[in-house]
Amino acid sequence: MDVPLVEVRELKKYFPVRRGFAESGAGFVRAVDKVDFSINKGEILALVGESGCGKTTTGRLLLRLINKTDGTVLFKGENIYNAGKDELRNLRKKMQVVFQNPYSSLNPRFRVGSLLSEVLRFHNIVSKSDVKSRIKELFEQVDISVSSADKYPFEFSGGQLQRIAIARALALEPDFIVADEPVSALDVSVQAQIINLLKSLKEKYGIAFLFISHDLNVIRQISSKIAVMYLGRIVESAQCGELFRHPSHPYTRMLLSSIPVLEPKKSTYRRQFKSGIPYSSFTPSGCCFYPRCEYAMDVCKYVVPQLRIISGSHRVSCHMNNGFGLD
Ligand code: SF4
Repeated sequence: MDVPLVEVRELKKYFPVRRGFAESGAGFVRAVDKVDFSINKGEILALVGESGCGKTTTGRLLLRLINKTDGTVLFKGENIYNAGKDELRNLRKKMQVVFQNPYSSLNPRFRVGSLLSEVLRFHNIVSKSDVKSRIKELFEQVDISVSSADKYPFEFSGGQLQRIAIARALALEPDFIVADEPVSALDVSVQAQIINLLKSLKEKYGIAFLFISHDLNVIRQISSKIAVMYLGRIVESAQCGELFRHPSHPYTRMLLSSIPVLEPKKSTYRRQFKSGIPYSSFTPSGCCFYPRCEYAMDVCKYVVPQLRIISGSHRVSCHMNNGFGLD
């Protein structure tokens, strides 16, 4: 069997809570807590959940932009946390990131052509004489006019800038890209264009993505698999179609119920849920969704439900037998 491109096992990131200046010991925020998933070549795994659930922290851990508390991240079978400085630099060429806000991720003092040439030259990707032709190729890959290379970031729209940020990620010919809310700062029509661009990059070059978003409508259009995250834990994961057909965790159903529809009264998942994500330094002792769940039982208060398979690759972490299915 092929080794997954990215494999995450029991990944944890706990941040200490400080009582006062320089004093720790008031507990931990369990930003990421025993997270497991894998991503194959050319696959898009979407990580979805409310703000503060640990999606971005997970993305950063995958790229070793921050240190883990525990667990393993394998890239092509290699543990990236065991890699030395030089090895990590080589690994990072193959693992890139696209941030939410292209205005802050691109240096405003440089022309966009220079931003790309800096990346190519720093990493010795092409010879000096080939830099210009490679920049031309990169602009073509993201549908930006080559004549734009002499412009500064402020001269572009948000969608065009995000294309340039994607071109910068592509400059290193990555196998894997963490796309952290890459369309949430854009207008809906522009969102669709960027989504189509990412899908075409996946098809053409076999690039795998971790696509982080809070928007299920966006995720439905782009992902192969979905992992739903709540308070640092994966509570449900499945193939995209399966998750939308048979959402089985009450939290997933809550997220689905929040998608705006033309006739809200006819929505399958329309229910009143207790609002408000709990204070993140307080993780309930049993099921993390217990305080908001209308199906909660006594056992949910004390026993953490394990993520278990309910059919095929569909996994759910809930004490209710076989999830809920459609009703
Ligand atoms: Fe709700 Fe209990 Fe399932 Fe948690 S384990 S989602 S509290 S029913």
